[in-house]
Amino acid sequence: MQFINLRAQQQKIKPEIDAAIARVLEHGQYIMGPEIGLVEQQLANFCGVKHAITCASGTDALVMALLSKKLDSADAIFVPTYTFAATAEAVVWSGAQPVFIDCLPDTYNMDPNSLSAAIKLAKKRGLNPVGIIPVDLFGQPVDYNNIGQIAKDNDLWIIADSAQSFGATYYGKKVGNLADITTTSFFPAKPLGCYGDGGAIFTNDDQTAEILKSIRIHGHGPDPTQYVRVGINGRFDTIQAAILIEKLKVFPEELEARQQLANTYSHGLQHIVNVPTVDTGNSSAWAQYTIKLPEGVERSRVIQDLKQAGVPSAIYYPWALHQQPVYKKYLTATGGSLPVSEGLIRQVFSLPMSGYVTQHEAKQVVSAVTKALECQQEMLASVEII
Ligand SMILES: *Cc1c(COP(=O)(O)O)cnc(C)c1O
Repeated sequence: MQFINLRAQQQKIKPEIDAAIARVLEHGQYIMGPEIGLVEQQLANFCGVKHAITCASGTDALVMALLSKKLDSADAIFVPTYTFAATAEAVVWSGAQPVFIDCLPDTYNMDPNSLSAAIKLAKKRGLNPVGIIPVDLFGQPVDYNNIGQIAKDNDLWIIADSAQSFGATYYGKKVGNLADITTTSFFPAKPLGCYGDGGAIFTNDDQTAEILKSIRIHGHGPDPTQYVRVGINGRFDTIQAAILIEKLKVFPEELEARQQLANTYSHGLQHIVNVPTVDTGNSSAWAQYTIKLPEGVERSRVIQDLKQAGVPSAIYYPWALHQQPVYKKYLTATGGSLPVSEGLIRQVFSLPMSGYVTQHEAKQVVSAVTKALECQQEMLASVEII
């Protein structure tokens, strides 16, 4: 069993992928070839948003979105601490300062109360709050109504880091259409991945779209030989676009299969561990199916038992960002520890997830987790008796 079964997907669509790559080799426009415009149109249609701008990675998508804002070194941008490094890294690249926010104990997404506290504290410390980068962790959209209201009240913009949630919905609206600017990633392990690095930015604003396209190619102006801003080389490869076009065709059925798998896991495990909570109004793209073990259960032993039973797993994330050596110096919502995230990182881990986990494999996972837990509960019980 694989943690993410990319091979099964490749086998399913191999002739189409081969033909798509062959077409690019034939026309030879490896940079900004016709597949770029085509996939951008399809991505925009998929999420019901006006503009999709592809780029070289989910990290570049964040960097480009931030470069489209005029930022200062005293500007504070609020990011969750329980996320992948890129979210905070992009802020530091942009020249502003990340301020770390704690997460909710049920969905693990950004906690609105922690956010409000952080905005107050940042002002008190002489920082200038300008924006929020919520992350749709593990594939579930954050509460955009709630976070959006806080943004409005404090005159902040929102860049949604939806690297893990492409394909998810919030009250019927698709990710890509839930914030001023949305970024995503096509890293192979994400819900919609290509066969290399890739990403995209979504917006309904024409002017923002023009600026992002300019930033993507070194900041060129309407005359491509003139540079009107400092940009980057943030282009998506034509070959990756050609691959993504084929993968997008099977993506809806893969999302369905991910949901089925999550249902099977939750049904089998809900009485013994904390299974993921999906809020009313939300659907998840299930980037990860992450469970939380009860207090006292030793995670490393459970993971070891699973490994012996042939079930791979992974820890997302072993550290919260405000604990990382390079990010320790930045402000947090409390000015110190962020207890919910600090607790979670010790008790969570993720189970195999893709659109290609068989029913048999899913049952194997459920029974392996159940056995590993029973094993530890017996040990704990015997310790108590002594
Ligand atoms: C994967 C990820 C990114 C970065 O995407 P890359 O394509 O790997 O650069 C950013 N934010 C989050 C939350 C991610 O999970």
